[in-house]
Amino acid sequence: MTKINVSNIQRFSTGDGPGIRTTVFFKGCVLRCPWCHNPETLSPKPQTLSYPGGVSVSYGRMMTPGEIADDVSEDIEFYRAGGGGVTLSGGEPLLQYEGAAELSSLLRGRGIDVLADTAGCVPWRAFQSVLPFIELYYFDIKTADPVKYASIGGDITLIAENLQKLLSSGADVRVRIPFIPGFNSSDDDCREICRLLVRAGARRADLLPFHRLGSSKYTALGLKYAYKDVKPPSKDTMAHAAEIYNEYLETNIE
Ligand code: SF4
Repeated sequence: MTKINVSNIQRFSTGDGPGIRTTVFFKGCVLRCPWCHNPETLSPKPQTLSYPGGVSVSYGRMMTPGEIADDVSEDIEFYRAGGGGVTLSGGEPLLQYEGAAELSSLLRGRGIDVLADTAGCVPWRAFQSVLPFIELYYFDIKTADPVKYASIGGDITLIAENLQKLLSSGADVRVRIPFIPGFNSSDDDCREICRLLVRAGARRADLLPFHRLGSSKYTALGLKYAYKDVKPPSKDTMAHAAEIYNEYLETNIE
C-alpha cells in the first residue's frame, strides 16, 4: 500500500495558493537551500523541534493517501467558499510522486483543487504521474547558474527541461523566484534567470523576497541558520529587480 511521508498538515493556510487551503507538507527534499523556511521537511526522518519553555513539536509520520484525503476533506466547504483547495508542498512533494498522484486523484474526485509546489528537481515521470490531477503548479527556480544550482543540490538541466515540458503540456504554472540576497540578486543573476525562463517558454514570474521567518526552526532543530544575518531586500531593491525581470517577463512581487 502506498504511504506518504508527511511532515505536517496545516489547515487554513492563506499563503500557499488561491483562497483558503490546507497544505500537506511532504517530508524529504533533494535540494538544500540554506535559506529554506521549512528545514524540518528536508530529511525524510521523523524530527522533533524543541522550542524554549519546553515546547516540542514532532514532524514526520507515514499516512496513506486515503487517510490524508479524509483528513483534508473536512474543510471542503471552506475551499468551495473561497476558491481554495489543497496544496502539496514540502520538502519536495514530487519525490513521493506515486503517493502524490494517488492523493491528488482522490481529491480531484471529490471536487477539491490541488496545487503542487515543486522545485522541479525530479524525473519527468513524476510530473507525468500527477499531471491529470493538478490544477496549478508553483515551480521554483533558484538560479540560472549550473554551479550554484549544484551547490544546493539542484540539477539545472533536469529542472529547466521539466519546466519547459510542463509549460508546453498546457499545465497552469506559476514560476516563482525566491529573491535571495547574495545568491541570485545581482542584475546579471536576474537577467540570466530571465533568459532561462524565456527559453523554457515562461511568460511571467513571481518574485518572492527573502525573509527570515523560518529562523527559529533552525534553532529548535539544533542547526545553524546560514542566513541569520542576511537582511531582507528593501522595497527599492525589489522594485529594481522587478524592472529587470519586466524587460523579459510579466513580473509580480509577492
Ligand atoms: S527546494 Fe524548497 S523545500 Fe527544498 S531545500 Fe529548497 S527551499 Fe527548502
